[in-house]
Amino acid sequence: MSENEKTKGQLLYEQLRYQKKSGFELMPKDELDGAMDYAKGYMAYLDEAKTEREAVTAAIALLDKAGFSEYRVGDKLEKGGNYYCNNRGKALIVFRVGTEDINTGIRISAAHCDAPRLDLKQHPLFEETGFGYLKTHYYGGVRKYQWATIPLALHGVVTLADGTTKDVRIGDEPGDPVFVITDLLPHLAKDQNQKPLGTAFPAETLNVMIAASPYREEDGTVTPSEDKVKLTVLSILNEKYGMTEADFVSAELCAVPAANAVDIGLDRWLIGSYGHDDRVCLYPALTAMIDNKDTAHSLMCILADKEEIGSEGVSGMQCRIFTDIIDEMASQLGGNANVIRANSICVSADVTAAYDPNYSDVFEKRNSAIVSSGVALSKYTGSGGKSSTNDASAEFVGRIRRIFDGASVVWQTAELGKVDQGGGGTVAKYIAKCNIDTVDIGVPVLSMHAPFEVVSKIDVYAAYKGFSAFYKAD
Ligand code: MN
Ligand code: MN
Repeated sequence: MSENEKTKGQLLYEQLRYQKKSGFELMPKDELDGAMDYAKGYMAYLDEAKTEREAVTAAIALLDKAGFSEYRVGDKLEKGGNYYCNNRGKALIVFRVGTEDINTGIRISAAHCDAPRLDLKQHPLFEETGFGYLKTHYYGGVRKYQWATIPLALHGVVTLADGTTKDVRIGDEPGDPVFVITDLLPHLAKDQNQKPLGTAFPAETLNVMIAASPYREEDGTVTPSEDKVKLTVLSILNEKYGMTEADFVSAELCAVPAANAVDIGLDRWLIGSYGHDDRVCLYPALTAMIDNKDTAHSLMCILADKEEIGSEGVSGMQCRIFTDIIDEMASQLGGNANVIRANSICVSADVTAAYDPNYSDVFEKRNSAIVSSGVALSKYTGSGGKSSTNDASAEFVGRIRRIFDGASVVWQTAELGKVDQGGGGTVAKYIAKCNIDTVDIGVPVLSMHAPFEVVSKIDVYAAYKGFSAFYKAD
């Protein structure tokens, strides 16, 4: 036997074992180039889409360009038509009515367009010792200390007393001022340093500094009015948006990080940005849909709001607009909604935690998603003993596996950290509840929910390829 010949056992081992490989090993050069290139479009989308409303607006711009038409519940549907239903500017259901029998079901992807942030309270404005501040109420799971001493922008809408709604976006254009939440200096942090991280930064200290000067009369003298700094803020907002202090009551304003998406690393394979969760799945799911708008079967790409707070509310995944649209498809196209749902399949397009070598003790490495090893399939999410999870069946995971392998998608599996370390959920369970097989597929993220999250361009592209294969699949 020559030295190069392998033994039966060696060959058997190669045949039988599972070995995870990175995208750098698996992707041919043109695909790696494609991944680098695809990231540019994604990064441009990130800069446009910091809130759920902006994510919807930016998605509609892409859809309009691709020839999709706006659909309102009740509108006439046609076979072969490509539509989007704008749910109050905060969520979006994009769908294609395929050319085949609607009863064969719909290929659905469901991402979310909201991200953790600091919402303004309804009476946010106050002044203290020469500073104007905005009170905030955090939205979603934030680690509060991460939001201090970073540049913040103010985004959202305000509905004025007369009913008109104005878009607000300050802090992201070149030359814009930004805002900040201050933090203690180390010299005086002795007491704070003794506190557990979860309690050292009380939510009520997350006050955004918005101004630092008293209102001055036309002759330059400080106003004799009360609340001088507050008046400075109100006068500027009034001039810019026509709003008064009472209009904060009917506003949805939030503080988000003021920075744009950037390459990370000398080799530029990572992207740092606010809001990867879940734009990093939303954008691949959406663009894959745009690139597959001639399929025989029907497709749907959902951009749900409110995932970070339980998918509640009229723009959340639990809102019945999702099934209402399926009902409309059934009644208009001669189908049966129950049959359509039974034959539909869904990928819940949401991020998972990437293994972080800096915090290896919270992960179980064999079952963690590794950055640049592809888009991750999570059979289950939840916490504790798989509490509150959609746990996809072996058969359905097998189906997705065949689809991905058939299209040479670089993919891996993921479990969110060690058992009993924590956990999380997605919209998967709300879709599964409608009798639709659903599994979580998404991009691994480092520093998830931080103001500056990190993903790999390999994984973003793998997600695009994965969703594309899913839409095309029989
Ligand atoms: Mn998410
Ligand atoms: Mn999240």
